[in-house]
Order: sequence, then structure tokens, then C-alpha cells
Amino acid sequence: MQKDKLKVIPLGGLGEIGMNAMALETHGDMVLIDCGLQFPDASYPGVEVLVPDLSYVLERLDKLRGIIVTHGHDDHIGAIPFLLREKELDIYSTPFPRGLIEQKLAEFSGVKEARFHTVEPRKKFSVGCFNFDPIPVQHSIIEALAFAIETPAGTVIHSGDFKHDPKEASRGEITFQAFHEYGDKGVLLLMSDSTNAEREGHTLSEVDIEKSFEKILTNQTGRLIIALFASNIRRLERIMAIAKKQGKKVALMGRSMHSYTRIAFEQNSLTIPEDTLIPIENVGKYRDDQVIVLSTGSQAEPRSALVRVAEGIHKDFEIRKTDTVVMSSRFIPGNERAITRMIDNLYRSGADVLYESVHQIHVSGHGFQEELMMMLKATRPKFFIPIHGEFRHLSKHAKLAVGSGVKEENSVVVEDGQVIEITADEIKLGEKLEIVKLPAVENLYVDGSPEALKQKHALAKAGIVFVALFRNPRTHQLLSDPIVCVQGLLLYHGSDEQEVIAGAKKKLIAVNADYGDREDFEEIVKLETRRYFRRHASYKPVVIPVVIP
Ligand SMILES: [Zn+2]
Repeated sequence: MQKDKLKVIPLGGLGEIGMNAMALETHGDMVLIDCGLQFPDASYPGVEVLVPDLSYVLERLDKLRGIIVTHGHDDHIGAIPFLLREKELDIYSTPFPRGLIEQKLAEFSGVKEARFHTVEPRKKFSVGCFNFDPIPVQHSIIEALAFAIETPAGTVIHSGDFKHDPKEASRGEITFQAFHEYGDKGVLLLMSDSTNAEREGHTLSEVDIEKSFEKILTNQTGRLIIALFASNIRRLERIMAIAKKQGKKVALMGRSMHSYTRIAFEQNSLTIPEDTLIPIENVGKYRDDQVIVLSTGSQAEPRSALVRVAEGIHKDFEIRKTDTVVMSSRFIPGNERAITRMIDNLYRSGADVLYESVHQIHVSGHGFQEELMMMLKATRPKFFIPIHGEFRHLSKHAKLAVGSGVKEENSVVVEDGQVIEITADEIKLGEKLEIVKLPAVENLYVDGSPEALKQKHALAKAGIVFVALFRNPRTHQLLSDPIVCVQGLLLYHGSDEQEVIAGAKKKLIAVNADYGDREDFEEIVKLETRRYFRRHASYKPVVIPVVIP
């Protein structure tokens, strides 16, 4: 590989929302920016998380100099423990993501040593031949970073996840100044967050959200249960501050609500006002209009606190008719059905529910089109690769880049596995890696081959029939009636299961008489059984034939 060449290897997050992982490789070194996981949709039945396929990195572990973390969301750090099972690693991170990673590692078995290096905003550090400048950005989690990276090919900017909230920024937190400065010096490549590339305009400000909460708390008559991501430390902090101002009490509900606030508090990144926090068991000691509960479960994750509350099975908290539940989050596509089911259950218990579409109680952590244009116009890159998004988000973002002055041939839309090769004057597609998403359950990989998933879907869709035939080894005559068991078949209305099974047995006796001495008899049994059941059920079932001998 040429000395001045840079390879960009997207291993996750390009073509989907989630599991972000991006390798940068030169002649002698490789770094991995983020290593996240994805929560699967219904196309992965029985799977808890998806992990990016890091084979490319694993095959070049001697070159890997470390993982650089942009921020602590699970889709950026969640797969790090899986990689640590393969190799001890250097991890470059700010304190909050580090605390979250350490907690994950404590729950994983068989992980090797993680050597943490503390990253501070605007304090440059080198990893191999790469020189990183961490630039703070606004996002829905504290300590979010973009990186300006000096590489042998030129300056690369990786935006991480970001938005621009000027009202918030005017409080002195974060500006776009650093991006302008890099733009002035010359940026070779910008890789930028595309999550909201389809949404026009500008995100609302967290300051407006704060005002909405102030109003809601002022007008509250019963208890308030606010569901939000535990990682949104700033929003949690604001709600606690408003509660304190109004002399109210706040209880935390859900495992991650406790762990995220504990880590942020221990690191002095979260101010908890005095005499405000109470244990959830004690909410009964206060007047209803004084009680605010901050809860996990805004995406109706199975087993989450709010889901259990909605189903009336939470051990410390029961919904009352006078309660109001505030959903301070977006309904993430794929979760809508679970969320609406949970909201229905909350209404059934008599509670009122407020959500984003009706009230200003949530704002995205990802910039809309105007903010994406701001990033493009500040950095003025020669080459552009949209990252973090499904294909349509990436495509839209690439068009925005062209609109902001990037040459059309230099604005490159690629998906996971497509290697890109860059020099100071050229961007071109390299090899295309064969990559698959790796499904895992309880921290362990499971078989996620297309064949295994096809079988799972077939079982779910069509059900299963088990057939056993016991025969005389010489004459192939049946020694007893065939055994037929069915599971999960949707028979046509009016069919009687016992009659259908009796018919199947009769059919199998006939099949044995006609084809019993054939070499491919087992295959014939399978085909004929499938065919028979198709006449009585909605789909041809999966058939498991056992013929002895
Ligand atoms: Zn994020």
C-alpha cells in the first residue's frame, strides 16, 4: 500500500441506523472509530443484538492501534466488549463513555485487557500515524466528539453524531469555530452524520424543550412519569433542576436510569440538586403533584420499567388514574408497535399520555438539513462520504453536499464493506468486503447464517410437522401406524386438527406402499407431507421425516 494513501473501511452504520464502526488504514497502521451494536427488527427473530462483522480488522490485528470513541451511545460503543474477546486493546475515550464501557466489560466474560486513554476536547493525541483533534459537538449525550484527523493523505473530519443548537451554544458550551478553522486550512475528506438528512430545517432547541417541561411541571396535578433515554444526562439534569425550583421530588426508575446517572454523577458531569432525589419506594410519602418519576422504557424495550408499569407488574410502582406519562423521545422506527401497545396499556390503567407529535417534549440529537449544510459549508471538504444512516439518508446527504459545493464525483455514497481509497488528489472505490451482521444473545454470538434465519422464518410462518415411520427392514412394510405431530400450523377454518392428522397418516401409508423401496424415500415423504398439509393449512409446513430403517 502506498505511503500517502488512506483506506476508509466502513464496517457498520452505512446502510443502516446503528452498529457504527469505521476503520481507517494506512501503509502501517489501522484505527477503528467507534464499535457499536444494533437492536434488530423482526427479520432477526430471537436475536437480542447485532454486532458488526469485524473480520477485516481481526485479520489485521497486528496493525490495529486502537479504538477511538466519539460518544457513549450503544450504537457506538456496544460491540467493543466483543472485540475485546479477541485482543487486548487501546481505547481512546472521554470519561463518560469510558464509564459505560467499563460497566459493560464487567458484565462480559472472557474479555482481554482494555487500556484506556483519556481524551479531552481540543487536546490532540496520536495513534499510530494518525493525529486526532477531538472537537466537542452537541448531541443527545454528554461528551460527544467529532474528530479532525491528520492522515498521510490529508485532513479527515469525522463528525460523530451531532446537531447544532445555537440557543444552547450561546450558554458557552460548543461552537462550530473549529470546523471553520479546519475548512480554512483545507479538509480532504468529510464524513458526516446522515441520520436526519431527510428532515428539512433545523432541530428544535433543548432550551425550548426545557420551557415545555417547566410548563408541564407547573401545571401538574397528579404524578408525572417522564420516559426518556437514560443517556440524555443534560435533559435529566434540567428536569431535576426545574423540580427543585418548584419544590418537587424526583424518583428514578429502571436499571440504566440508575447506572447512567450514577456514572455521570461520580464523574461530576451531573448536578443533582439537594433534597430532590427520592427512592421509588417512597413516592407514596409525597403529594401526587410533587412527584416526578424519570423512567427508562421510552422505546417499550421488553422488560423495561415503563413496559412493566404499563402491564401492572412493576414491583414498586402502580399507575393511577390521575397520573400523566410524558414520552420524551422519538418513536424509533421498528419500535412503534411495541410503543403504541404500551401507550394503550397506560391509557387502560387510566393515565394520560403526552407524546412528541403533540407537545414540544423531545428534540433529536441529530442535525436536520440546515445543520448538515452548516458542517459542509464550514469544512468545505474536497471529498465527502455520508455516514450513519440508511441508504436513502446517505443519498440525500450526498446531494446536500453537492449543493454546498462538493463536486458530484467527489460525493460518494457507499454501504458497509465497500472500501474507499483516498490520496490527496483522488477518491476511488476499492475492494468490496463480504460482510454479514453477527447476531448475539446474552453477549454470545448465535448462528445468523442466511440459512438459519430462513429456517426460523419458515417455522414462524408455516409451522412444523414431525413424521415418524417404523418399518420392517427387509420388506419395508410399516410395523405400526405412522406418527404425525404438528406444531404452529394455521389450519383453514372448519378443519379439525385430529381429522387432518388422521388423513396425513392415511396418506403416509399410501406413500409407503407406492414408494417404500425407493432410495430417496425420506425425501418423498417430506414432499408428499408438505403437499398434503398445504391443502389444509395456510402455508407448506417445515417437515421433519424420520424413517426407521
Ligand atoms: Zn449518538
